[in-house]
Amino acid sequence: MKRREFVTTSMLAGISTVTGNSPTFSAASKIQSKEQKSMAFTLPNLSYAHDALEPYIDKMTMEIHHGKHHAAYVTNLNNAVQNTEWEKKTLEEILSNVSKLSVAVRNNGGGHWNHSAFWNWMRPNGGGQLAGELSSAINRDFGSFDKFKEQFTQAAMTRFGSGWAWLIKQNDKLVIASTPNQDNPLMDIADVDIADVKGIPILGVDVWEHAYYLKHQNRRADYLLAWWKVVNWEEAAKRFTGAK
Ligand code: MN
Repeated sequence: MKRREFVTTSMLAGISTVTGNSPTFSAASKIQSKEQKSMAFTLPNLSYAHDALEPYIDKMTMEIHHGKHHAAYVTNLNNAVQNTEWEKKTLEEILSNVSKLSVAVRNNGGGHWNHSAFWNWMRPNGGGQLAGELSSAINRDFGSFDKFKEQFTQAAMTRFGSGWAWLIKQNDKLVIASTPNQDNPLMDIADVDIADVKGIPILGVDVWEHAYYLKHQNRRADYLLAWWKVVNWEEAAKRFTGAK
């Protein structure tokens, strides 16, 4: 990883966030946009402050998870596709062809997609119950909302090591799945290397230790209890509608 390049970019991103369009920093903004232009993928901003999910997800975890871990996936993905035809493709196109690509693309492309979605699967004042079409489909396929939560939590708890648990739409059915590392259900390897996890992600939770270790140490169950309190059900419902 080109560490110096990453540090410079994130410093400039920080400056431009703080100052907006201030003319004092226009030189820095110009450098930033030039650098970003040459990169295929960029780190999305959070739509809420780093401390907005407190007390459930702590500020420092959010800062490191977004600003370091996710940023590194983006940098490494850009490096891995640089000067290849994949540089011009969408992330979804890359994931659906990932079996033909390097392990670096698989890990960092998955990492970039998963985290970009994950930030939006959480929100301040989230959690609670669910209404509408997704709620009906969950009741139909899992029996009840509580049974769904129980099964999803079980998948997240039993994912050995690092990975993700998912609610996916598979054909016309909602299914719970889990994947190792940064793999995800959109990857073409999802029904080959890993059994039965191919589908459209509706909701996902990161169970890598970096997602919870600072606050909960090894207690993944405590993290998941807290995570349910910040789930953005509107985002899940939107993805369910979009998946039709
Ligand atoms: Mn993560």
